[in-house]
Amino acid sequence: MTDTLADSRTSPRAFAAGVPLVLEDVPRRPAAERAEQLADPGFGRYFTDSMVVARYRAGEGWHDARLTRYAPLQLDPSAAALHYAQSIFEGLKAYAQPDGTVATFRPEANAARFARSATRLAMPPVPAESFLAAVDALVDADRDWVPTGPDQTLYIRPYMLAVEPFLGVRPAHEYLFIVIASPAGAYFPRGVQPVSVYLSEDYIRAAPGGTGDVKCAGNYAASLLAQEQALAAGCDQVVWLDATEKRYVEEMGGMNLFFVRGSGADAELITPELTGTLLPGITRESLITLARELGHTVTERRFDVEEWRSGVEDGSITETFACGTAAVITPVGQVRARTGDFTVGDGTPGPLTMALRSHLLDIQHGRTADAHGWLHQVR
Ligand SMILES: *Cc1c(COP(=O)(O)O)cnc(C)c1O
Repeated sequence: MTDTLADSRTSPRAFAAGVPLVLEDVPRRPAAERAEQLADPGFGRYFTDSMVVARYRAGEGWHDARLTRYAPLQLDPSAAALHYAQSIFEGLKAYAQPDGTVATFRPEANAARFARSATRLAMPPVPAESFLAAVDALVDADRDWVPTGPDQTLYIRPYMLAVEPFLGVRPAHEYLFIVIASPAGAYFPRGVQPVSVYLSEDYIRAAPGGTGDVKCAGNYAASLLAQEQALAAGCDQVVWLDATEKRYVEEMGGMNLFFVRGSGADAELITPELTGTLLPGITRESLITLARELGHTVTERRFDVEEWRSGVEDGSITETFACGTAAVITPVGQVRARTGDFTVGDGTPGPLTMALRSHLLDIQHGRTADAHGWLHQVR
């Protein structure tokens, strides 16, 4: 962020009124190194050449927006986010399209959610057009980092943190908005495998009036011990119950859940309603739309663990899956609980789970018509 303006250009799209988005000449890593990382990217391991950084100061607003080299940040040790967790993030993906272009999926929805997260944490919202301009500028600059292998994507991580050097407890006066990107491999390279889940009866993710319905870093910090407990119990993921009665299923790790009642064309989908303690997933909302178009009834309501268990036992609940940007759709197989374990269906991915998964992936990768205008071409 120290380069002079001499070797930089400005994006045709401003970051905000009167705030140009400066495009520095970012050095490119060697093509061979990039090719090696793109061949087996994994998730969140490698980062592209560039990042976007914008600054905010109370009284001045957003300023100094630039595409710059991906590099460590310099933070004051008293930077507020490091102490009081004023820190929020988003996650979306860019997909290589069959015609050689690159598209992101519903980025306006991420921009809107990011603004809601900011407001909840008493942080300054990033205007939607600034969020979108920053994401587009990064993907455009680093489009040779968008992998083209089957189901591979470029994962984009916009985030904001309080950087004011001050230990008093109040909303900070200075922030950084940053966008970084990381190539991501297929989530299930060896075919879709159901996960086993552990019902968290000791810990909760979110309580009424808390921050469960926004994407803040603290929610994840508070979830890690329960996830460790799930792993120690031999499960892949933790399933969260409501804080008050520990009765209603809310989410799985960082993903929303769906339950299938019945089978075939008449199968009904049930997904926990957004009570204020669930994160309103963009994948969740997209799947509700697609399932209804396919003729399925989709019901948003509270869903009792005992309804899950008895439905699985009497055969009325035939499938369960989780959904989110990173993994799209993940089938749930075994469920482990203190009150007894059970297995959904025969423990293999269900037909509606797999049909919805392919349908959404086909839209995202441009293999089928995008009837909703969900894809955003990066120009
Ligand atoms: C991000 C997230 C989701 C999934 O949201 P998408 O917009 O579908 O990626 C679900 N639950 C939690 C807790 C999350 O943080």
